[in-house]
Amino acid sequence: MATETKGKIGVTTENIFPVIKKFLYSDHEIFLRELVANAVDADQKMKALAVSGEFKGELGELNVRIVLDEDAKTLKVIDNGLGMTEEEVDKYINQIAFSSAGEFLEKYKDQIGNIIGHFGLGFYSAFMVSKKVTIDTLSWKEGAKAVRWTCDGSPEYEMSESDKKERGTEITLYIDDEDAEFATKGRIQTLLDKYCKFMPVPVIFGKEQEWKDGKYVDTDKDNVINKIEPLWAKKPSDLKEEDYMEFYRALYPMQDEPLFHIHLNVDYPFHLTGILYFPKIKDKMEITRNKIQLYCNQMFVTDSVDNIVPDFLTLLHGVIDSPDIPLNVSRSYLQSDANVKKISGYITRKVADRLEEIFKNEREALEKKWDNLKLFIEYGMLSDEKFCERAMKFCLLKNTEGKYFSIDDYRKAIEAEQTDKDKKLVFLYATDTEAQYSYIEAAKNKGYDVLLMDCELDSHFVNLLETRLENTRFARVDSDSIDNLIPKAEKVKPELSDSEKADLNTVFQSVLPKENNYYVTADNMGEDASAILITQSEFMRRYREMSAMGGGMNFYGEMPASYNITVNMENPLVKKIMDAKLAGVKPAEHVEDAPKDATEEQKKAVEAQKNAAAEAHKKDLEAFAAGNGILRQITDLALLANGMLKGKALSDFIARSEKVVSDAYLEK
Ligand code: ADP
Ligand code: MG
Repeated sequence: MATETKGKIGVTTENIFPVIKKFLYSDHEIFLRELVANAVDADQKMKALAVSGEFKGELGELNVRIVLDEDAKTLKVIDNGLGMTEEEVDKYINQIAFSSAGEFLEKYKDQIGNIIGHFGLGFYSAFMVSKKVTIDTLSWKEGAKAVRWTCDGSPEYEMSESDKKERGTEITLYIDDEDAEFATKGRIQTLLDKYCKFMPVPVIFGKEQEWKDGKYVDTDKDNVINKIEPLWAKKPSDLKEEDYMEFYRALYPMQDEPLFHIHLNVDYPFHLTGILYFPKIKDKMEITRNKIQLYCNQMFVTDSVDNIVPDFLTLLHGVIDSPDIPLNVSRSYLQSDANVKKISGYITRKVADRLEEIFKNEREALEKKWDNLKLFIEYGMLSDEKFCERAMKFCLLKNTEGKYFSIDDYRKAIEAEQTDKDKKLVFLYATDTEAQYSYIEAAKNKGYDVLLMDCELDSHFVNLLETRLENTRFARVDSDSIDNLIPKAEKVKPELSDSEKADLNTVFQSVLPKENNYYVTADNMGEDASAILITQSEFMRRYREMSAMGGGMNFYGEMPASYNITVNMENPLVKKIMDAKLAGVKPAEHVEDAPKDATEEQKKAVEAQKNAAAEAHKKDLEAFAAGNGILRQITDLALLANGMLKGKALSDFIARSEKVVSDAYLEK
């Protein structure tokens, strides 16, 4: 390998061929793109000579023909462009091409291992797949003689006279055995479709075929590869919506219709044209990246643009064409390229411009398509600061009734009702209209509005909005009682002594399922409200959700779920249970503290006595709870309302309910 000669790659014609073969093995197919590109160039230069008047003869129909002989394993690329004289072959093929490849390798010697994509060795990439290459060429110039150049992959070449009669260049590749795939019709057709679909002169490969007498036969019509027009090269004002849709279907035959498109067109400070489409994205599973195709003057380069556009834009589909994106270098180099940075910023800005325009002028269409666009916008806002700033204007919020609002409009709509006593605006949201139905209803009954946040990214998105919006807080409807979610004034809390609080806790813990953590508190929620409300703290739930999504806070993810059990002291059933407890459970036995001068032994004895008293009291409370069917019943009802009653607990509940009902009905 060349790098073995200490520190310096001495590129000579002797070692250029092994380098070409070795390092480019993964990308052998680009040879065809390079040769067709040269042929297209030659045609276009010829056309320019005719237009300028320098050439006055018959131009003919300029095209590029690909001719394959599967048996002889030869592949020809033939153009009727300007051709080359003997001096030109010597200059452009023998000297320039060799030396520019040498310079190239010298310049990027450190990265030579990662050079994967666009090596761009031009003409010499033909040797990646050939054991021998010949050029037959006849220049357009008066009196020029046809030249034949032959090289078998060794550093020696031969030049002689050629019998070529027509103007232009014919390159013949003698495909080597390891690359025999490139001597098959199917492979060549695929490559031409991939790289040459939009080239600016007709690229012809054999004849169109038709089905006749039970098999495909050639017609006399040329098979033109590039039938579809490169729509992005046209003026947006000349195009209709349907043109864009048709073009999309030609690019992605199996995909759903896109939602919107953007036509990019810039001349300064770099050249870039293109059409980007917003695809329908319903959930994360459907995201397909690498749908944007990068072209350079209508020649396909790659469909992985991850270093050229910001990450979130790789979700878009479409075409970008720019001669200003360097194609000959490794991916890591691309990221630091100033032009690439400018291009990336420009595309982000254009996408935001277009969305803002849709927001202003096509609001109805935007609302209709929002659910399929939302994931893209939220992902963009979460991953790109600049885009986020712009998107705060056109991002929509959807409420549980299916109405859409801009963030600003929504703030204004809820301001009057949903500002709490500390002047904070509270955005209420639900993630599941079925599961959180009763909480949503409770909020609506208060005159509040509830947003629907049921997308995969919403837990992150809620955090983002909270940091972006001043004086604003988000609360999921089931994270507390509705009065506590938006507290309006200091309210009267139930007055319970410490021992009463402890008793309440013991009583309820003893009837709650063991696998979760519960915090039992008492509150006044009104006579008509249910006896028990189960909620999950907004904070805990968010961290659990985010760690489940891989947000890094794994500590919270591993903890058992914890819930708040709020006992409504004003509910008549609770009142009656509390009275029954008071009547049925004797207070804990009071044990005097040990005197100050007591011995260590005496102190221990008092401690043991205290523990025994507490243990006995706990037993009494648990016995009371176990014997009070209604206490268990109201607890289970609350669990049931949250889908937390399962298995044996559920079947016990049903049996107990039947008994309660029959007892009441049959007045036992
Ligand atoms: P590049 O295209 O980047 O200049 P290449 O190695 O592909 O590098 O080609 C080297 C040169 O050889 C071209 O610039 C052109 O002058 C000449 N050449 C290659 N192919 C043709 C062709 N089909 N017709 C005329 N000239 C050609
Ligand atoms: Mg070239």
